Amino acid sequence: MTYDSTNIFAKILKGELPCHKVHEDEIALVMMDIFPQSKGHTLIIPKAASRNLLDADPTALAAVMPLVQRVARAAKAATGADGIRLAQFNEAPAGQTVFHLHFHIIPIYEGVALGAHGGGKADDGELAALAKDIAARL
Ligand code: 5GP
Repeated sequence: MTYDSTNIFAKILKGELPCHKVHEDEIALVMMDIFPQSKGHTLIIPKAASRNLLDADPTALAAVMPLVQRVARAAKAATGADGIRLAQFNEAPAGQTVFHLHFHIIPIYEGVALGAHGGGKADDGELAALAKDIAARL
């Protein structure tokens, strides 16, 4: 499987499509998932192009993991979640729907069931507010 640069996250990285941006640096873009599985569901998208973990450059992986940790901490602090799930899917049978490597930070609230993966679209105002709150804690 090869990387297809027409995927939706590549377009967001190039600024061709909008997103609720939390953070951007030379390594990655961090944005809110617009079909969140829970309040505060955030995505970390490395700028280095790869389909997923399987074809990623180990150096790019090493560079992005500290940011994944920072976002996990910031999302937990911003939402008051009881825990954080880190998810990452590789190829369609495993649940991957966008074929540019990304990490999901999914806040977990005790007693609250997670929404479906790729379920309903969230309110833009709520996503914008969450992006601001998480950014303030990074
Ligand atoms: P995957 O299934 O590939 O691991 O995850 C793709 C994620 O991207 C899903 O959780 C889905 O909700 C999210 N997503 C799909 N399209 C868009 C989009 O246009 N913008 C944002 N911010 N998230 C998207």
